[in-house]
Amino acid sequence: MTTLLPMATPDLAWAVTRNDAAKPVAERDAILADPGFGKHFTDHMVDICWSERGGWHRPRVQPYGPITLDPAASVLHYGQEIFEGLKAYRHADGSIWSFRPDANARRLQRSAKRLALPELPEQYFIEALRQLIAIDGDWVPSAPETSLYLRPFMFAKEAFLGVRPAHKVAFYVIASPAGAYFHGGVKPVSIWLSTEYSRAGKGGTGAAKTGGNYAASLVAQAEAAEHGCAQVLFLDSVEGKWLEELGGMNVVLVYKDGTLVTPKSDSILEGITRDSILQLAEDRGHRVERRQVSIDEWREGAASGDIVEAFACGTAAVVTPIGMIKAADFEIGSPDAVAGELTMSLRAELTDIQYGRRPDPHGWMLRLDA
Ligand SMILES: *Cc1c(COP(=O)(O)O)cnc(C)c1O
Repeated sequence: MTTLLPMATPDLAWAVTRNDAAKPVAERDAILADPGFGKHFTDHMVDICWSERGGWHRPRVQPYGPITLDPAASVLHYGQEIFEGLKAYRHADGSIWSFRPDANARRLQRSAKRLALPELPEQYFIEALRQLIAIDGDWVPSAPETSLYLRPFMFAKEAFLGVRPAHKVAFYVIASPAGAYFHGGVKPVSIWLSTEYSRAGKGGTGAAKTGGNYAASLVAQAEAAEHGCAQVLFLDSVEGKWLEELGGMNVVLVYKDGTLVTPKSDSILEGITRDSILQLAEDRGHRVERRQVSIDEWREGAASGDIVEAFACGTAAVVTPIGMIKAADFEIGSPDAVAGELTMSLRAELTDIQYGRRPDPHGWMLRLDA
């Protein structure tokens, strides 16, 4: 059955088709009890079409399921694709909230510009999240540190093998319940320093959230795993000297005087988690520096005791302490390093805001279910 619902933006009316084969409550509850990450998906998905002639049109909520694509769809050949990642959090009173979704909407627009895709208006992005939560809100888990991960994405679906920006594009949102990232407490991870591979180059797509950057990181990530590391750290592609970021997380160093330093570069993805953590640190009176920082500075600073903590940050794992860096010919830190004190207290402050356990001084939270 399809019904038309009015939408906050007057020019788009949403068509909602309920999933007749939605998961029974018992099955959903079993998934929510142990969701893992990115393995299970809710009963519905959202999509909005774009064409060069018609602009954004036909917003829909429909049953979750396979997408039919022409084999010549340009995304399958030239990778014209971007995505976002954010979470819906259940608060103690049952309400459902997201964290700075306007920042995700704007970042999707920046990614779109770089990948020659159309910019989705911010209000359509937010409305898409609300529509999905309106129908799949019961999929937001309530156990501590769990959430519903929301994955908006956009791709070129025009059937055309010529090389130019596609004239037909689709925007989707899917959702996947996520368990606590760390079982049995947050533990420091070991990180492999890739010297052979770069994730992005000067003038490339490093600052856009696009699948190609991830594709480029996978062999390095596999190399990290071979060395017993959870993640890979990339350096700049020109000098092989300056810190950039991990495959999907930003990196921050903490100095003994309380200063936080994070790499500045045109080829890293500007994380919303990092921006928020650094804001919270500034609120506490810490100095924050966004500047070039070399792997040698980290090595020497860790050896001299000037650099006392390091962490990675991103939506999925929030904040992950870095225990050690392993490179082909040196190591920083040690495998049994303990999580840094400031790292853990900033992590706690951020998650307390996200889960509604503490006031939200910057107005970062947006309610999705009302
Ligand atoms: C998404 C992403 C991040 C983290 O961004 P958040 O907004 O904090 O989730 C960092 N690096 C890369 C490459 C990413 O794709």
